[in-house]
Amino acid sequence: MRLDKFLCEMNMGTRGQVKAFVRQGMVTVNGKPVKFPDEKIDENTDQVTFKGQSLRYRKYVYYMLHKPEGVVSATNDNTADTVVSLLGEDRRRDIFPVGRLDKDSTGLLLLTNDGELAHLLLSPKRHVDKTYQVTVEHSLTQEEISRLEQGLDIGEEHLTLPARVSVGTGSIIYITVHEGKFHQIKRMLQAVDNRVLALKRTEFACLQLDENLKPGEYRALTETEIQKLK
Ligand code: URA
Repeated sequence: MRLDKFLCEMNMGTRGQVKAFVRQGMVTVNGKPVKFPDEKIDENTDQVTFKGQSLRYRKYVYYMLHKPEGVVSATNDNTADTVVSLLGEDRRRDIFPVGRLDKDSTGLLLLTNDGELAHLLLSPKRHVDKTYQVTVEHSLTQEEISRLEQGLDIGEEHLTLPARVSVGTGSIIYITVHEGKFHQIKRMLQAVDNRVLALKRTEFACLQLDENLKPGEYRALTETEIQKLK
């Protein structure tokens, strides 16, 4: 792999920045300063340092994105920006979103290149929790809340699995579901003659949306977060 690509993948800066760092002598490979950003290295065995700090190559990367409205949960799309394009030009090429949020939904979306973990988290058998903050058109009666919680018919073969609902302020409710059917929350609200006006995912598995992330921003998961997901 090229040295500048390696440094980008290690989040040391944009392609332009890391090239400048290399030319300024801030990078060593196996103890020797390297001046050419296109130098080829073996990312698995060569010892690379940046400003004296040793860099260990990671095969897999994990990001928490605060998905904004108007982008699609895909790796590429001809008509709209994708969640992957929000990571910028220097992202790894093999990153994809773990599951999907609708184009008009916002909130926590995990992006990774770890197919095995994604498979585990999306497996219907694993019932990974997802919590949504939902702005509804009409406030819900206790009977409607009970129906959402107990499971209802959204036109699938089976009723939805039991869910948890809590009422927030104004027309906001929080719903935690343990499955991920297409348009699930919108269809659940439709089934009680209501309508979703805004939908934001606040939790996914053990992760909570980082309050410091504005829509469109992302950050790498910490080692502890990655271990908890597995
Ligand atoms: N349920 C929906 O209806 N839409 C989403 O984006 C996520 C869950």
